[in-house]
Amino acid sequence: MTPWFDPTQVFIGGRWQPCAGGATLPLENPSTGEEIGRIARGDHRDIDAAVQAAEAALQGEWGTLTAAERGRLLLHLGQLVSEHFDALAEMEATDVGKPLQQAKNDVIALARYCEFYGGAADKVMGETIPFQNGFTVYTLREPHGVTGHIVPWNYPMQIIGRSIGAALAMGNACVLKPAEEACLTALAFADLARQAGFPPGALNVVPGLGDEAGAALTAHPGVRHLSFTGSVGTGRKVQAAAAENLVPVTLELGGKSPQLVFKDADVDKALPFLVNAGIQNAGQTCSASSRILVQRDRMDEVTERMAEAYRALRVGPAMADLNVGPLISARQKDIVESYLSLADPSQVIARGEVLDNAPKGGHYVAPTLIAGLDPEHRLAQEEIFGPVQVLLPFEDEEDAVRIANGTAYGLVASVWSSDGGRQMRLAKRLRAGQVFLNNYGAAGGGELPFGGVGHSGHGREKGFEALYGFSALKTVAAHHG
Ligand code: NAD
Repeated sequence: MTPWFDPTQVFIGGRWQPCAGGATLPLENPSTGEEIGRIARGDHRDIDAAVQAAEAALQGEWGTLTAAERGRLLLHLGQLVSEHFDALAEMEATDVGKPLQQAKNDVIALARYCEFYGGAADKVMGETIPFQNGFTVYTLREPHGVTGHIVPWNYPMQIIGRSIGAALAMGNACVLKPAEEACLTALAFADLARQAGFPPGALNVVPGLGDEAGAALTAHPGVRHLSFTGSVGTGRKVQAAAAENLVPVTLELGGKSPQLVFKDADVDKALPFLVNAGIQNAGQTCSASSRILVQRDRMDEVTERMAEAYRALRVGPAMADLNVGPLISARQKDIVESYLSLADPSQVIARGEVLDNAPKGGHYVAPTLIAGLDPEHRLAQEEIFGPVQVLLPFEDEEDAVRIANGTAYGLVASVWSSDGGRQMRLAKRLRAGQVFLNNYGAAGGGELPFGGVGHSGHGREKGFEALYGFSALKTVAAHHG
């Protein structure tokens, strides 16, 4: 897998160029532990140049385009993404370590975001407001200006699609700082935007370390909006930096998302969702479902069926396209294993199998199903970010809500039940940004607003809601006698 661009360069003002310091960082293949290339180690000088290029784009050609013209560019970009389907999927699988089919789904999602936001660009409208006689009052939705985007390594294409897609649709000029662990598809996306004809400076990409390039972007006074996806700890720093410059910030952070299985649930239908939502991308998913709450009457049955599914899970290199790939890094593997050491061996119900021939340098962890914990146990409270799920029993609806809402997070929750009234009651009572009824994740639907409450963050991306977030509302009141 050789990228068609030079990944050791930064993309600023429509041009590939070496970063100011000339330094590079290693890029590792998590399936083998081998170095597969180098990326630029951008720093505050590159971020400053990128913000200036974005500002120049807003003052220049990019700022003069109509909404329909911006939409057309995004549609073209989506086409180019689809035309590079195999290359992008292979790049993401190799760089992130996710099974090839999952990486292919991410390419489809990226193309779909370009399509959705390309089509939506000229459909965002203000309103007219009835007011006193002699006035005509209306609102305009305008771009913030230069927007800063900081993304993690787990779903680079998906997160870039939803955040950059919406920001460009509204006419902002973007500076993207991808994660140092996996950023090849972010760079590919920049080059495809160039090929699609985006004017110079509309999109700029500067890879680098979080506390260098990332921190420089959050502190830059020229940035008018920050969009951050990542950990709670970094989210706090990003919000603090945004507070200094008094700019709005969208935070998409972690989760400890529950699925609630009631005694009247269709367990046949639920089963694949219960398991997949925990092991997809080796559990390194913000909306992973790491807690499975089961009404006591059906606990034994659900436990046995999930255990059977777990025992069938195969773990190996991304390109072998098994159920589960490696974790992103040795560090992430250490974190997950130290969490697993908190469980008593009798609480480990079932594990998947790491293939004997999986490369020894890869960061593999067998998916692990755990039961018999108190809901306050650290394994049931903290985000592990690995292929680990805990089963927790509940007695009734009240108990289910108490346990489900009993963490600091609130990203996703789902309810499996055939009782319509129960579904509606719980949809209201569960503390989460998204509630799914008899499904989990709605197949990723880019049309659906997404975000969290509590430690899962605030602000919404995806859907039309993101277009409102990436624009500033201006009220115009005309007095005409
Ligand atoms: P992280 O917070 O360490 O890094 C995320 C990004 O922030 C990277 O690009 C990193 O370089 C950058 N960064 C690090 N320090 C920074 C700083 N001081 N200033 C500015 N930028 C900085 O997170 P991670 O370990 O890469 O990702 C895992 C976490 O992300 C998990 O907790 C997961 O739940 C969360 N996540 C959330 C979502 C969501 O949509 N809610 C999606 C994916 C991941």
